[in-house]
Amino acid sequence: MHPSPFTDEHDDLRAAVRRFVETELRPNVREWEDARWFPDAVFHRAAELGFLGLKYPEEYGGQGGDHLHDAVWTEELARCGSGGVAAGLGAHTGIATPPIWKFGTEDQKRRYLAPAVAGERIAALAITEPDAGSDVAAIRARATRVDGGWTVRGAKTYITNGVRASFLVTAVKTTGEGGHHGLSFLLVDTDQPGVSASPLEKMGWHAGDTALIALDDAFVPEENLLGRENEGFALIMANFQWERLMMALGAVGAMQDAYDRTVAYVKRRNAFGRPLSGFQALRHKLVDLATTIHAGRCTTHDALARFVAGENAIREVTMAKLLTQRSAFEVIDACLQLHGGAGYMEEHEIERMARDARLGSIGGGTDEIMREILGKVLDL
Ligand SMILES: Cc1cc2nc3c(=O)[nH]c(=O)nc-3n(C[C@H](O)[C@H](O)[C@H](O)COP(=O)(O)OP(=O)(O)OC[C@H]3O[C@@H](n4cnc5c(N)ncnc54)[C@H](O)[C@@H]3O)c2cc1C
Repeated sequence: MHPSPFTDEHDDLRAAVRRFVETELRPNVREWEDARWFPDAVFHRAAELGFLGLKYPEEYGGQGGDHLHDAVWTEELARCGSGGVAAGLGAHTGIATPPIWKFGTEDQKRRYLAPAVAGERIAALAITEPDAGSDVAAIRARATRVDGGWTVRGAKTYITNGVRASFLVTAVKTTGEGGHHGLSFLLVDTDQPGVSASPLEKMGWHAGDTALIALDDAFVPEENLLGRENEGFALIMANFQWERLMMALGAVGAMQDAYDRTVAYVKRRNAFGRPLSGFQALRHKLVDLATTIHAGRCTTHDALARFVAGENAIREVTMAKLLTQRSAFEVIDACLQLHGGAGYMEEHEIERMARDARLGSIGGGTDEIMREILGKVLDL
């Protein structure tokens, strides 16, 4: 199989996203990082350019493309220099809206997907709870039947876009059964008294919004049940492959960006009377980094090609996620080292990229959970 699934058809899109990233995101990320927030206007602008609905049908305002178009968007977005900005936009397009597209009723698509594609409503996927992360089946938020729907009590945490989201795509218990039984997906409007979100301070992704959300008898009308009642566990699982592919694509994009910046730096920086690139030890280091990035890209593109071809690519996707996330942190940390003291300074952005990359081994399923999955898939 050819390692790159992209064709010439994707080049135009890549150029357009790159232009947007270079002219409208990258110059502003420093300010947004300092403010610990990027404006909602970024969603509006991305929507205007068609990037929030690349894989969604035209009838909901989308571009009628497929996952490969979204993959181009994800790879390029990773070069914006802010993991928080990439994560906020990526969570909206890549994890929060897909369940509505796949499992939503026509009415739900009109009320939630179309406005999300238009950038008018911002979405968050709220699965994780203070006592349920890797162990998704331990979810405790509880929906109780009331006239016309449910009220929900519980807490969700580490939720990307959680402060700004106008609605949550969330999983809650709709029965008293244990384990993965009795879970349901609900669309929860956040502009009601029963929902409150507080921002969390974090190591990286500073421009992004990550929230602890309290659901205190939040009302959810009957028509906001996504998919079938008590069968929500399947919905949680349904998008994991795409989420992990997106993270692998993002890691490859970020590694390549850090590498490109570092090569430019070592060529212009002199020490002991010659450019840093004149030292064999540093050249060898760069060769190793380029090789790691290439291996990550090939593994990721192979998994992507299988995924878009409709294969059950759990082995390849899980390996791509596992391989690229720790690699991204290590490659970017090596790039920081190659910058010397400048690498430690905010001005050069490498320190931010290293901090931002650390999340990859934790979010979307930790490295340990990837190994657990692979242990089963490989029949070990
Ligand atoms: C910045 C950020 C953004 C996030 N965004 C979202 C979001 O938008 N929506 C959302 O729902 N969630 C989100 N998350 C949550 C994320 O998915 C979880 O943090 C992650 O799945 C890990 O769960 P946990 O934090 O509860 O860790 P735990 O499950 O408590 O794990 C702690 C440690 O134990 C290890 N461990 C756990 N079980 C096993 C096992 N069986 N075998 C071996 N090791 C194990 C883990 O690998 C980890 O090292 C986000 C997290 C962060 C940090």
